[in-house]
Amino acid sequence: MGFIYETHLHTRQASVCGVSRGADYVRRYLDAGFTGIMVTDHFFNSNTPLDRRQPWSEWVNGFCSGYEDARNEGEKRGLDVFFGWEETFDGDDYLVYGLDKAWLLEHPEMIRWTRKEQAREVRRSGGCVVHAHPFRQHSYIDAIHLAPHFVDAIEAANKGNHDAIYDAQALEYARILGLPAVAGSDIHNAKDLPGQAPFGIEVETKLASIADYAALILNRGTIKLRMPPGRCDFRRTGDKPLLLPVEIRDRNDRTPGPRRMTFNEAAEQLAFSAVEKKAG
Ligand SMILES: [Zn+2]
Ligand SMILES: [Zn+2]
Repeated sequence: MGFIYETHLHTRQASVCGVSRGADYVRRYLDAGFTGIMVTDHFFNSNTPLDRRQPWSEWVNGFCSGYEDARNEGEKRGLDVFFGWEETFDGDDYLVYGLDKAWLLEHPEMIRWTRKEQAREVRRSGGCVVHAHPFRQHSYIDAIHLAPHFVDAIEAANKGNHDAIYDAQALEYARILGLPAVAGSDIHNAKDLPGQAPFGIEVETKLASIADYAALILNRGTIKLRMPPGRCDFRRTGDKPLLLPVEIRDRNDRTPGPRRMTFNEAAEQLAFSAVEKKAG
């Protein structure tokens, strides 16, 4: 058996929707057999409870407090706790891994980055960008926004409040792009454990740091998904038309805007993006 990690977790300290404090998760993930967790609170343009008018260093301190709370408890009990974040654009969410608080402090301009700039700057520093639940369709989202050139992996399985069909579509998206697929619980409440088995990833080599996880993704290492069987079974979902319009950004970050389409139509366009992406 390999090493199991939670990749998508929110704390009350730094996510409006977070219910539990960082430290509250530690015992429960240990009991569930996990080696570690990655704390990914909602970033500056997302669901942050922190006053955006305060100085950047103070905002970053507040942002890291949920992670630090979990890490301190993890050090006491023997659970690895890693840092990441989840930034939002037009309802589309990106998990960023491999960078730290010092890096955030040096990049106050990041709150104005486009998806393209985010990908460029994060990769330049050795980090990676993972599109979280790309095909989620929900009342708070106006369209499915896809940026295939600006992501390094796809969160295929997400245990958040959405239907399994979106996960099947997300896994298919990863396959089309030839990118690694990952899984995470998008957990907001520690009390969801142990009743509901968390989603996550399993890797063969223990991660020494979050930089190891980013490197694993960027180098296309082996990552097993931990999720219920059949969760991402694409055949089961068939070819249903998508409820929301789809917007696909090109390599220059341009878009014709959201269009109504079936999943197969989207897949066709994404296959074109994949060819372009491989060409560099
Ligand atoms: Zn949330
Ligand atoms: Zn999330």
